[in-house]
Amino acid sequence: MAKFLPDPRQKSACKRTNTGPSGRCVCRAYSLKAPQPAGFQKDRCFSAGFPAFLKGIRFKSMARIVMKFGGTSVANLERIHNVARHVKREVDAGHEVAVVVSAMSGKTNELVDWVQNMPKVAGADSPFYDAREYDAIVASGEQVTSGLLAIALQSMGINARSWQGWQIAIKTDNAHGAARIQEIDGSDIVRRMGEGQVAVVAGFQGIGPDNRIATLGRGGSDTSAVAIAAGLKADRCDIYTDVDGVYTTDPRIEPKARRLKKVAFEEMLEMASLGAKVLQVRSVELAMVHKVRTFVRSSFEDPDAPGMGDLLNPPGTLICDEDEIVEQEVVTGIAYAKDEAQISLRRLADRPGVSAAIFGPLAESHINVDMIVQNISEDGTRTDMTFTVPSGDVDKALRVLSDNKDKIGYDVVQSEKGLVKVSVIGIGMRSHAGVAATAFRALAEKGINIKAITTSEIKISILIDGPYAELAVRTLHSCYGLDKN
Ligand code: ASP
Ligand code: MG
Repeated sequence: MAKFLPDPRQKSACKRTNTGPSGRCVCRAYSLKAPQPAGFQKDRCFSAGFPAFLKGIRFKSMARIVMKFGGTSVANLERIHNVARHVKREVDAGHEVAVVVSAMSGKTNELVDWVQNMPKVAGADSPFYDAREYDAIVASGEQVTSGLLAIALQSMGINARSWQGWQIAIKTDNAHGAARIQEIDGSDIVRRMGEGQVAVVAGFQGIGPDNRIATLGRGGSDTSAVAIAAGLKADRCDIYTDVDGVYTTDPRIEPKARRLKKVAFEEMLEMASLGAKVLQVRSVELAMVHKVRTFVRSSFEDPDAPGMGDLLNPPGTLICDEDEIVEQEVVTGIAYAKDEAQISLRRLADRPGVSAAIFGPLAESHINVDMIVQNISEDGTRTDMTFTVPSGDVDKALRVLSDNKDKIGYDVVQSEKGLVKVSVIGIGMRSHAGVAATAFRALAEKGINIKAITTSEIKISILIDGPYAELAVRTLHSCYGLDKN
């Protein structure tokens, strides 16, 4: 599990006159979660900008905020300027701000393509490349946007500087291309934030134990932002994107989808894992473990529109602890994942070790197996096993299975591509019966055949034929009343 340094703030109470560009005190605010009495807090901060009677007092409403901007939000210079206005709004309100940026949209794809399209070595079936060089190349997109945003902020009179992952340092493990953050030393950034400087951090990257740049997997800037928010003990992590929150389902499929006000960490984890693309799965795991209150919100709204700077209730969806959600619905959302494939092994021996013989070699080949269904044997000797993998991995999986046929001992293998997994998610399911039955009935009424089902405490996943995906999503969305109110 990620390890973060202890809160560096404790060492850095403001001892001097300390005003931000707005003329207000920018010294450290209290964590909103810290047990502080309401109103003003007295401490050693002396702000020259305040009237005499407020000297020695700092506003409790000041906070430490991490703002993350995705690729579409920084797609061109004009949008970067717009992002700078969002940042300025929070700085002017007196908050301490660290910003995390993605590469301009399309940039990372272009860089990845360059790596993958290097001429192949003669005879090789895929291009060979060193994952450490892949990281050196693809991490460059974020380096550019961090510098550009720092310049945009400076041009607005804001003290800002860019940071690359290694400079902070964001330490990762050695898994180049899909590294995990292990430790963040936030002390330097915290000190500078105390002096009124905005940190603009390149997302998606850190530094591995081999002292080389490591990237965090596609979509990894979300994870950078949440990890930095945890490392800096920020009050809030705002993920700015091209949608204005998390919806009950994909609005492109169901126009009646509603924006959710709050989603529990666990639900968001399921939604992200089951196909909702709004946040990288790993970022939600981190937010859950470190209890980082995370807002998903839009960068395309006017930065100075009313309510945009609201400290407690900014527009968007709050991802938070389930205790914060008062009125819990039974079902929160419907997610879907396309391009699933089903593989069935027929007439396997029904004895200990068979599953291990199947899934061991698949795991070693990095094939991500999802739903697993094993039939109860009719006569105690033979059984069937069905599981799903991403469509793109089917051929590889079939090869692994046939290489291990003797060890596994099956009769025939069948496969089908182009399937879709539709999932119903909600923590309210824990305490309600009949949620699955409602889904099955609604799908049956539309004549949609179910190929496999898996459930957990808070989700039901159903595998169906690809062409029924949209109908199934709309049907499930309305059968739980998600399209109402
Ligand atoms: N630029 C990286 C990507 O496209 C990281 C990110 O945007 O989150 O995957
Ligand atoms: Mg993203």
